[in-house]
Order: sequence, then C-alpha cells, then structure tokens
Amino acid sequence: MAGRNLPDNPVRNPQAQVLGCSRRRCPLLFDLHTHSNASDGILSPQALVSRAKDNGVSHLALTDHDTTAGLVEARQAANDCGLELITGIEFSTQWQGLGVHIVGLNMKTDSSALGEAIERQKTARTERGEEIGRRLAKAGIPDAWHGAQALAGQDGVVGRPHFAQFMVNQGHVTSINSAFKKYLGAGKIGDVKQLWLTIPEAVAAITASGGNAVLAHPGKYKMTRTKLRRLTQVFADAGGQAMEVVSGNQPANETRALADIARQFQLHASCGSDFHSPAQAWQDVGRYSPLPQDLAPVWALW
Ligand code: MN
Ligand code: MN
Ligand code: MN
Repeated sequence: MAGRNLPDNPVRNPQAQVLGCSRRRCPLLFDLHTHSNASDGILSPQALVSRAKDNGVSHLALTDHDTTAGLVEARQAANDCGLELITGIEFSTQWQGLGVHIVGLNMKTDSSALGEAIERQKTARTERGEEIGRRLAKAGIPDAWHGAQALAGQDGVVGRPHFAQFMVNQGHVTSINSAFKKYLGAGKIGDVKQLWLTIPEAVAAITASGGNAVLAHPGKYKMTRTKLRRLTQVFADAGGQAMEVVSGNQPANETRALADIARQFQLHASCGSDFHSPAQAWQDVGRYSPLPQDLAPVWALW
C-alpha cells in the first residue's frame, strides 16, 4: 500500500471507526485482526472477505495464527469485491511463561525471514499437538492428535479448539467449553506449554519482511498495569511499532488505559475485531469501539 493515497485521513476522521456508521459518510473502516479456517476461524478466507465487505470494512487484514496460508484466496476474493486486503499473521510468542500474541501487518509474504519463523512455529505446534494427544490418550481419549489434524484440514493450523471439537464429536464431552474445563484449559491434563518464538524473534521476522509488528489485544493478558508496561517495553525495544489499542467491543476504560501506554511508548495504534466465527455475534468482523483520535493509526506507516 506504500505510496497509495488513502481517500480520507482517518486520524481526522475518527468517525470512520464508529460502529454502524453508514458507508457513504464513513468510507474507511479498518479491521486489522481476523481469522479464517486457515487457522482456528470458521469461515474460508473468501467467505471472511465477503462478510467483511457486507459489514462495511474497507481495509481488512487476515491475521491467522502462525500461518499466511489463507492470504492467496483472501487476496483473490478482495480483488473481486473491491476491498483492500492487508497481509497479516498472528504469531504466538512466550514471555515470562505467558502467551503473548504479536500481529504482523503489511509484510511481504515471500520473505525468507517470515517463512523461517512460520516453519519454526509449525514444528513447535506439531510437537505440542503430539504431546497433547499422548496425554489425552492416557486420560482415555485415543487418537485426538490425528482427529484434531483432520478437523484443521490439510494446510490448517491445529489448535486446542480442534482438540475440543474432536472430543465433542466423539462424545467424550458435551461442549467445547466443557472440553476446555475438563481437559484443555490451564492446569488440566492437556495444557501443554511449548516453545514458541520469543517476542524479539517474532518482531524481527515481521520487520525483516517489511511489515509492522503490533502487540495484540493487551487487555486479554489480564496483567497488572506495571507488568503490561514491562511487556510493552520489551516489545518496543525489539522494534515493535504499534499496539492494538482496540480489540473488539472492549470497555472504554480499557481503551483509555491502553491508549495511555501506547502514548507513553510512542506506539502507533491498531484496531480489529479478532473475528473467529459468525456465531460469536459480539465479535463480528468490522465491529469494535473507536480508536482514540489523538493516536496515530498503524496504517499511517503504510
Ligand atoms: Mn484464535
Ligand atoms: Mn490472539
Ligand atoms: Mn486473534
């Protein structure tokens, strides 16, 4: 998108972010965090793009977990319906024993740095999936790794939701929620830690491929303000450029708190729904609270 003139300046047009505003009055709507069935989303990349278009999104980033496999299909669909697609990814990283997500935006997808990082995540994920499978087998649930892989599809990225769905399908549990409660959630038998990229490694891979690294949904980590500042410092020191100041329809006080930290570290602001499924109506694509208007949006970097 470099060098392309955007039709309106969203910094001066904060209403472009407002939920439900008419497309004619608000031509720009950036949703920079969404998932397709190339990772743990429900919709195909094509169906996601079409839903985004229907919801008035003008600029969509597909940010599947640790994969760019959905981007070719999404690009084609976006071209067909006249929506601007931004390349994206959501890397899982670990920091002080906690899972932290780093979104990459606007990367060149043929970059070798990006390819290597994705390959490392794939290996880590496979090793973890096999271990979850072994543990579930001991708990009386055989073949879960292969079952989860089958549900994720050939190029799919297997995650715990696939294990949960397999357990529901096999009748071991009655719902996804109970699968997490009994087997997969924190402290349960299927809660297996793994060696993800570090924050500096993920940021470096994104930056080396020409993209911008974004600290994803900081409110989801349930950290104290002090700890979140330490995390942000590590991220900014590594070259991270933006924070997801708005993720979904989060409470206004959370947005204010995150905006304060973004200002303190001079980070650009990003926003997105973190859309996974049409069944989660509260988290639909293109639906989230507005960004504070004094923050420079991440797309000002493009
Ligand atoms: Mn997810
Ligand atoms: Mn995430
Ligand atoms: Mn996500």
